[in-house]
Amino acid sequence: MGMALDQFVSSPEIRVVWKAILQQARKAGGRPLTFTYRCDGPAERRRMQATVTADRHSTIDIVSAVARTRPRPPVPVLDHRITARTDEQIRMCSWCARVWADAWVSIEEACRRLGLLEATRLPAITHGICPPCMDTLTEDLDASPGLLPHNRHHITTPPPRDTLRITSMPGTA
Ligand SMILES: [Zn+2]
Repeated sequence: MGMALDQFVSSPEIRVVWKAILQQARKAGGRPLTFTYRCDGPAERRRMQATVTADRHSTIDIVSAVARTRPRPPVPVLDHRITARTDEQIRMCSWCARVWADAWVSIEEACRRLGLLEATRLPAITHGICPPCMDTLTEDLDASPGLLPHNRHHITTPPPRDTLRITSMPGTA
């Protein structure tokens, strides 16, 4: 089943990150790239592992699986069933699940800082990537063999048309 990147990642910021990952997968020439990210539920912290593999026919497989879960008291702002939201948005990093509240903090800490524990209506959540995760990911991609130096300057280069096979991935929640 083929898909274009733009069809399943709505955040422009995360599209840039994915383009870098796909470009790197192509350079890896069939060697799988793996990385972890968070995909939390309201009552569960979930660490996912994604494996990205390019084949010779420019098909890219993206497979992700749950690597580890840890239960927690439910966090209502993460409950997608609550659809009535204010116009406010809070920004969550799709890689580490931290939220911006004057600093990148856990969702629990963000709820305290932003007064969401008492709030009758909750803000919406948008997804992005925090600067520390961007740095780590860029370093991971740079460290992979076969990559040109200073790759980070080229990460916005549009890739050739790919066919993607996807189970789930960060930024599509
Ligand atoms: Zn992050």
